[in-house]
Amino acid sequence: MEQNSDLEKNFDVIVAGGGPAGLSAACLLNEQGVKTAIISPFFPKKAPKGFRDPRTIAMMQPSVRLMEHLKLWPDVLEKCSSPLLKLRLLDDSGHSFDGSDVTFSSEELSNEPFGWNVPLPELSLALLDKARSLGVEFITDEALSCPSRGDEIHVNTKKHGKFIAKAVIAADGRNSNLRKSAGIAVAKWSYDQFAIGAVFKHSGPHHDMSTECHKQDGPITTVPMPDNHSSLVWMVRPERKDHLMSLDDDAFATEIQRELHGSLGVISDVTDRKAFPMEGMNAMTYGKNRVFLIGEAAHVVPPIGAQGLNMSLRDGAMAAELIGDALAFNEDIGSDSVLEKYDTARRRDVWPRQKAIDLMNRTLLSDMPAIHDLRAIGLKLVDKIKPLRDKVMHEGIAPETNLPRIMQN
Ligand SMILES: Cc1cc2nc3c(=O)[nH]c(=O)nc-3n(C[C@H](O)[C@H](O)[C@H](O)COP(=O)(O)OP(=O)(O)OC[C@H]3O[C@@H](n4cnc5c(N)ncnc54)[C@H](O)[C@@H]3O)c2cc1C
Repeated sequence: MEQNSDLEKNFDVIVAGGGPAGLSAACLLNEQGVKTAIISPFFPKKAPKGFRDPRTIAMMQPSVRLMEHLKLWPDVLEKCSSPLLKLRLLDDSGHSFDGSDVTFSSEELSNEPFGWNVPLPELSLALLDKARSLGVEFITDEALSCPSRGDEIHVNTKKHGKFIAKAVIAADGRNSNLRKSAGIAVAKWSYDQFAIGAVFKHSGPHHDMSTECHKQDGPITTVPMPDNHSSLVWMVRPERKDHLMSLDDDAFATEIQRELHGSLGVISDVTDRKAFPMEGMNAMTYGKNRVFLIGEAAHVVPPIGAQGLNMSLRDGAMAAELIGDALAFNEDIGSDSVLEKYDTARRRDVWPRQKAIDLMNRTLLSDMPAIHDLRAIGLKLVDKIKPLRDKVMHEGIAPETNLPRIMQN
């Protein structure tokens, strides 16, 4: 239901944040009969005209299964998405003693793609429509704080005052007000890099392959889209970001083509360029004082290996599963024991991935030749040793344990 003047004030769960992480969690809760509201300053009504968020999400199979569960896949989202049949990692840093080049093929694991590349605006809108159709209560507002009071938690908002629930899901992004209010500290760091996101057309085929090419300043990644388009995630130092962002579209297309050594043919029709500062963040706990942290309110990683939102969707699905289980046994859904289970399950998934992404990025930025040689040797070993190769492929898609039930095969 859309917000009106007689807003309902009491819910089982209040989700703060209308990004993809918060919306998917709200859908999963509501469909289990959990009375859910979602608070966000802004809920888009239709696809934006003009500038669009250039991000596309390489959604791995468990995330696709979540969309299937919500009946958004294939019906709504497949038509704007491309399958990911191959993932190629190559070293073009000029540092290592030879340019390692590894291609993983989804056929090595099963007859389904690794995942699908879905534009973020379409994904967000589809989730928003689903949440509306399921009857999630929409509250257009900002959540400011969330003091817990006995077996309740209050959410204080900027315009509509106080709302009451048994538990809160904080999906209010990297600067989360509710994380601070719950007294959860974070470790935060920044990389001296920006990621430029854009969408472009190319004359050559992409063969449904995503290519992550490691350069001295970070990876340049292309991810397949329909109709000979690809999305770009190009990580560069701040000075180069300033230069690239100042170019007109044709000159920027020429720069992409040069950087990719023409591997996708002639690049044209670049749209929606945006630079994102690169930072990392991890909350000290993902659950405290009746608050479950999900998505970028819990953890932030650079866009390497397409992990960010995939992890966030698993956060939301795990929180919804544990809340549903607690309700089924008449337990307190915001109790410390439920929050501890959530924290343990999610930390096992997020922490090693965050470390691996950090290591991969920092080894690229290192001045020490030996570090680059070690990275090149690591990639070669992954390429040649079958059990290691299989492990990397499986883990790249999702953790082999602790996957929320609806995401399991
Ligand atoms: C270039 C690039 C490429 C990427 N590619 C991939 C990829 O291929 N695969 C992948 O898995 N991930 C990818 N990511 C990561 C992914 O984009 C993010 O993880 C994801 O979009 C974050 O979603 P979120 O819902 O956690 O946060 P957000 O989208 O930031 O949502 C936060 C929401 O909270 C709301 N909010 C803020 N303050 C308040 C408040 N006080 N009260 C209530 N609501 C509030 C905001 O309005 C917003 O709606 C990429 C990132 C970048 C930068």
